[in-house]
Amino acid sequence: MADNKVIICCKCKKELIPKKVYFKYLGHSFFTDILKCPDCGEVFIPEELVKGRMAEVEMQLEDK
Ligand SMILES: [Zn+2]
Repeated sequence: MADNKVIICCKCKKELIPKKVYFKYLGHSFFTDILKCPDCGEVFIPEELVKGRMAEVEMQLEDK
């Protein structure tokens, strides 16, 4: 897992820092770490999160 790649805010040219955020999606909520710019607050949501975590939530919904 290459989880240590640095992502730079395209506006401020600052390194994004991991931050725990509260997510709400399809009525489900969870905490997850996302990268956030300390300056402008721009967040970077990796595709893995969208495909992994969101799909997980969707599967939970289908089970019911
Ligand atoms: Zn920024």
